[in-house]
Amino acid sequence: MKILLVEDDRLLARQIAQALHDEKFVVDIAVDGVDGQHMGETEAYDAAVLDLGLPKVPGAAVLRAWRKAGRQLPVLILTARDGWSDKVDGFKAGADDYLTKPFRIEELIMRLRALVRRSAGHATPKIVCGAIGFDAQTGVFERDGLPLKLTALEWRVLECLILRKEVVIERGDLTEKVYEGDVGTDSNSLEVIVARLRRKIGRDAIETVRGRGYRLTAAQTA
Ligand code: CA
Repeated sequence: MKILLVEDDRLLARQIAQALHDEKFVVDIAVDGVDGQHMGETEAYDAAVLDLGLPKVPGAAVLRAWRKAGRQLPVLILTARDGWSDKVDGFKAGADDYLTKPFRIEELIMRLRALVRRSAGHATPKIVCGAIGFDAQTGVFERDGLPLKLTALEWRVLECLILRKEVVIERGDLTEKVYEGDVGTDSNSLEVIVARLRRKIGRDAIETVRGRGYRLTAAQTA
């Protein structure tokens, strides 16, 4: 999944981005409110982490602008201040959750995962599609109850597909959310990753929808 991180403390931003990367998130960083607002309005993210105290445009104004533009992405706000009124302002602007600095990055990651999972319509972390099980909190995939070993790219593709199981995920969306920076070369193109996934989870589990994208399905073709 792809996260927008808007944080002007560059050291903290790098630390958060590295921790998210280690947990297989794809992360874009903006270091002021103008860039953050623009990126959130023009690119597709699964969630945003938004600092309230930002140069140029404050975080709450960025969030209000996103909501006014119809952006529905879940937003977790970071506040350095302990003031209750900051959090109230954040929620009024359309925030879904908040953390007060300093915080543990593990907690940020847990909250982000829960936000993304709930926004995809799953009330609980366990998601099942046919023989494939996924724990959206721990990130573990299983096939018939046995843990699956996946590369980071395979994991990201399968996570996107299972969060919206039985729904066609457009090729372009999948590409944007799976690759960091450069889109896959021949050896790790989307087609190659899907082919490798099919060998691990079963041929019929991922359906190719011509001209559109892919769908994870529990339906068995004869
Ligand atoms: Ca700040």
